[in-house]
Amino acid sequence: MDERSDVEYASQLGERVAAVRAEVAVAAAHAGRRAEEITLVAVSKLQPASALAAAVQAGVTDLGENYVQEAAEKFAALGWGPAPGRAPVTRHCIGPLQANKVRKALTWFEVVETLDSVALAERMERIAGELGRTVRALLEINISGEPQKSGFFAEEVEGNLARLAKCSSIRIEGLMTIGRFDPNPEAARADFRALRLLRDRLQAVAPPSILLHALSMGMSHDFPVAIEEGATIVRVGTRLFGPRQTP
Ligand SMILES: *Cc1c(COP(=O)(O)O)cnc(C)c1O
Repeated sequence: MDERSDVEYASQLGERVAAVRAEVAVAAAHAGRRAEEITLVAVSKLQPASALAAAVQAGVTDLGENYVQEAAEKFAALGWGPAPGRAPVTRHCIGPLQANKVRKALTWFEVVETLDSVALAERMERIAGELGRTVRALLEINISGEPQKSGFFAEEVEGNLARLAKCSSIRIEGLMTIGRFDPNPEAARADFRALRLLRDRLQAVAPPSILLHALSMGMSHDFPVAIEEGATIVRVGTRLFGPRQTP
């Protein structure tokens, strides 16, 4: 980008961040909630490193990335250091995490939102131990039960809590889901509500080391609905950054 389009991009991004924050506040007020309860994660997958820098300038506090290798390259290009804390934002891994990418993911992300199996948890536990760090995580739930989606099925989480609780280097903070894809934002409301009700049921039985305060749900087209249903984290990409580059 040349200097002029850089400046234009930054001001446009600043306006979009402000517009999304305003919609977050309206949805929170609808639900009798406070806007400060909700973290906006700006999803910068398939956007250039310069877009991440502009997001920081626009006051974004949390970034989400799907592809570990792509994210690591951009973070390094920006001069950001490894996790935890050596970047001006909190970095969330929101894409499916393959076993062979766990070490790199734990090197670069503060939060893994896509903890989707006990096998992955046990691998993360071992590698976090080797790296001498604690990793924040959310349990990804396949709340709609669609076969092509990853995540724990709702009915299998409770039976795995004891094994997850043994992973002392993983700090589980809540649940994450990807709503049913439908251009009509109301279509995902039932999924979002089901995730909150699952969280409420699990909270009653979970070991004390498993925290369940966070609910990550809602994307560009349906985050207001997710907030009405209790989201504490919304993951918004295209509404902020515009169309993504093809990989
Ligand atoms: C890409 C992605 C998002 C952001 O999607 P937009 O529709 O661009 O807001 C949110 N969550 C996950 C898991 C994603 O993969």
